[in-house]
Amino acid sequence: MILRCRLCHAPIAACDPARLIPPLTSAVFEPLEPGFPPPFPPDVPWEAARCPQCRHHPQGYAPDGAKSLETDQGTWPLPGSDRPEAAAPVPKPDATGPTPKRDTPQRRNR
Ligand SMILES: [Zn+2]
Repeated sequence: MILRCRLCHAPIAACDPARLIPPLTSAVFEPLEPGFPPPFPPDVPWEAARCPQCRHHPQGYAPDGAKSLETDQGTWPLPGSDRPEAAAPVPKPDATGPTPKRDTPQRRNR
């Protein structure tokens, strides 16, 4: 699948749909063709990735833009973006387990 820029529609990067799981990273996007440099520096967070053509973020800046990607197959919804309850796991109150009892004898001098 080819990632396209939402703003200038330029093809930017090759990507595997199976890897497009939020939170996205720049590392999941690969060069359009082997031998080309990666479209984004791998150490750049996805929020800071920029289209090589227009220097804007490939998803644009609309609030809903982060929920999908523009690709050569049309708008690709990112998994989990339409299921807020699944994206926010409920923390378990007893996740830490019972407090371990310390075997420290409390001796009192009588
Ligand atoms: Zn662009």
